[in-house]
Amino acid sequence: MQRSPRFVLACAAAFAVSLPSAVTGQETVDTDAVKFFRANGIDDGKVMDHLSWICDVFGPRLTGSPNIRAAQGWAKQTLTEWGFENAHLEEWGPFGRGWQFSHCSVSVVGNNPWPLIAVPKAWSSSTNGRVEGDVVFVGDMPADELDALDLAGKVVMVQTPRAVYEPFDGTAIRFNAEEMHALADDRPRPRRPQTGRPATAASTDWRAGFQRRRAILQKVYAKKPLAIIDRGSKGDYGTIFATSASIPAPAGVPRDERPSVRDDGRHVIPQFTVAVEHYNRIHRLLKKGAKVRLAVELAARYFEGSPMDQNVIAELPGVDNRIGNQIVMIGAHLDSWHTATGATDNGAGSAVVMEAARLLAHWAKERGEGPRRTIRVGLWSGEEQGLLGSRAHVKKNYAEPGGRGEPPVALHAAHARFAGYFNLDNGTGRVRGIYLQGNEACRPIFRSWLAPFHDLDATTITSGNTGGTDHLAFDRVGLPGFQFLQDPVAYSPRTHHSNMDNWDHAVADDLKQAATIMASFAWHTAQRDEMLPRKPMETPALIDAAAPRRR
Ligand SMILES: [Zn+2]
Repeated sequence: MQRSPRFVLACAAAFAVSLPSAVTGQETVDTDAVKFFRANGIDDGKVMDHLSWICDVFGPRLTGSPNIRAAQGWAKQTLTEWGFENAHLEEWGPFGRGWQFSHCSVSVVGNNPWPLIAVPKAWSSSTNGRVEGDVVFVGDMPADELDALDLAGKVVMVQTPRAVYEPFDGTAIRFNAEEMHALADDRPRPRRPQTGRPATAASTDWRAGFQRRRAILQKVYAKKPLAIIDRGSKGDYGTIFATSASIPAPAGVPRDERPSVRDDGRHVIPQFTVAVEHYNRIHRLLKKGAKVRLAVELAARYFEGSPMDQNVIAELPGVDNRIGNQIVMIGAHLDSWHTATGATDNGAGSAVVMEAARLLAHWAKERGEGPRRTIRVGLWSGEEQGLLGSRAHVKKNYAEPGGRGEPPVALHAAHARFAGYFNLDNGTGRVRGIYLQGNEACRPIFRSWLAPFHDLDATTITSGNTGGTDHLAFDRVGLPGFQFLQDPVAYSPRTHHSNMDNWDHAVADDLKQAATIMASFAWHTAQRDEMLPRKPMETPALIDAAAPRRR
């Protein structure tokens, strides 16, 4: 991959000004370590090789599937080869059955046949060969009309058509100066222009839409159609966003008693998301009174009988007598959705964690001594289904979480020895800074640690929270857990959970920069005298001690 001339220059410039071990503010920056990480992570970075193994060799890594098993085995073995110890698969669960598909096709049949771009929703049952059915549109059908319909053997369209707008403002973005200032000042980011889009489009009430779709799905599902198709809430030009199939829950049934697509032995009516342009064409044909018939074929397998899943855990042991058993963690989720190879979500984060691990092990070897604190790597599974792997890891090792917004109900001894956790899961974009998750005491520390990377556009600390990924599992029990601030690139409009989330859409220079910075943050957290400060929290009883647990 071509390295931009500006990039190489930047590295040289950073070297020139640094002192061997500088004290900026009150925080020490180990510039020898930084120099090493930059030289090996940027000039000789391997992050795109790791990503190619994860995406090209193992492919889509849905939790519970054979592909994620293979990827977990590779990560464990590779970390061991690099000198990590105690590399193991940490079991958690039950998660339920796995699923993987090998073939999917949807096409219009009849006197003017044509193929659709379509993907199955995860955990859909196979069609057992090619099956055909007439299409019925119920997207905006009144409930009583829907009740009267017989949908057996039909292919049902459950969503209304969706307008498509041309991307006049471009697709991939980097935060501009105005946006970076807003982030630094904790102000909302200015809205970007939406040329060619009617203002209303953005403000459609998604909640009402969701309720209506769920009600329709409930009725349709009960009528046992051949297959269900929709067009997704975004995506065009062949890019389709799809996640899990669903079984509509009868009203009033508590969440943990609801039927799940992950239950062994359960049949799940095949569900597909098709390209919006193709979905809209069928709708226009039906409106003209034409009859449309679809041939659908899905070849998929369930993996039942082993409901547990695993996280990959490995360590570089701490060498300091006083703080060696304290823990610094870097992590990302290895699982992905199924329609592409999960490159930017979250092969990118996993490859960055692997690369940071390689740099840290390499540096420990180079200097002939390991980190003061233990550096632990976590590659999670089950993130896409609710941070399941990382939450299980936290519960097993550090603390039993309380209710939402509540302090933990009990702590493991290791809770007091946990120095900090760094996560990467916002796509392929380079690090522009870090979210403090409200932990203001870390601001001066992170300011110092970002300073050696200002030339690589990593400059900004924003006090806000960012959600939706694995650092929350740590933050929730009062442990310092952070997600880096990354450039969006084309994460939301193109790759996040889409059928185009492939290696080719990962930006090499960005991931090299991210891995270098993650390695540096982990190293500095392992080397400083004190653990990272924490947000104030009520301290519950210890699980490990004999003391009765507080409920
Ligand atoms: Zn993710």
